[in-house]
Amino acid sequence: MEALVLEPDLQLDLRDIDVPEPLGPHDVRIKIHIVGICGSDVHYYQHGRIGPFVVQAPMVLGHEAAGTVIETGAEVTTLSEGDRVCMEPGIPDPNSKAARLGIYNLDPAVRFWATPPVHGVLRPTVVHPEAFTFKLPDNVSFAEGAMVEPLAVGMHSATKAKITPGDVAVVTGAGPIGMVTALSALAGGCSRVVMTDVKQPKLDLAAGLGPITPVNVAHEDARAVIDGLTGGWGADLVFECSGNSKVAAGVFDLLCPGGCVVYVGMPGEPIAYDVVAAQIKEARVEHVFRYAHVYPRALALMGSGKIDVKPLITDTFDFAHSKAAFDFACDMPDTSVKAQITME
Ligand code: ZN
Repeated sequence: MEALVLEPDLQLDLRDIDVPEPLGPHDVRIKIHIVGICGSDVHYYQHGRIGPFVVQAPMVLGHEAAGTVIETGAEVTTLSEGDRVCMEPGIPDPNSKAARLGIYNLDPAVRFWATPPVHGVLRPTVVHPEAFTFKLPDNVSFAEGAMVEPLAVGMHSATKAKITPGDVAVVTGAGPIGMVTALSALAGGCSRVVMTDVKQPKLDLAAGLGPITPVNVAHEDARAVIDGLTGGWGADLVFECSGNSKVAAGVFDLLCPGGCVVYVGMPGEPIAYDVVAAQIKEARVEHVFRYAHVYPRALALMGSGKIDVKPLITDTFDFAHSKAAFDFACDMPDTSVKAQITME
């Protein structure tokens, strides 16, 4: 099949590749319609590795996908041919201890699309387990369906934060994950999100998504804005989505006593944070790695209209121009959030 293949020498091109995919009894075969480009895909293209995961053999990129079921395994009961679906890209071992504990995202044996050595889905079809394939509500497009993967990270972060209705949250970093985390925090009951970044076009876009106060920390003081909104108390929740080590170390300055920090973005290097600053507020600190079974809730929020990801889909390329799409994603203008590739 023709696929977008990243070679170990970091050449990227559409080419024919053999991906054998027998259909098991609990699997469905899906025709792929749309694939979003994720920061991790771009990172593999630019660096050939993320942490311990190294591209050592040709690998198909892409893991944010939606499509149509075209074939069902003998024992599939919840999906049928023609169903519009999106897919969760990480498949754990169902018998692992992590899976049995309900934290299957932490299963060391998880097989995740476009994470070496597992192929991604920038290709015409894929075989996937029924249990990790989710029907799209009628009013949710394929493009929105392909946004469920990044949205799931925001949903998982909001869940970890244990939001109380009316909370004021800060989201540091207005990239795609910051945006979906802000949407999830609002859907989860936050009354307002203060969003910080240094790129004004991203903040302008965020400000149009809901009760979001943009703060350009290049020339504005985030703490002063938060004080104004909370009578000097501080933010109930801080979602660190920038991955910037200085920002990640400074989150406790923004937090209220008894508040919660969720580390979402991944800093490129270890960070040193002030434990005493966290202690004197008895800060609760959470960390997220991907997500576990939040697709149904994300789709329910999209279907009911409480979360609208459409403004985040800023750039669309066709499959024939996949490489150009990746070159664009390597150097995205500040006005862009998410680029997607349509398969036809
Ligand atoms: Zn992603």
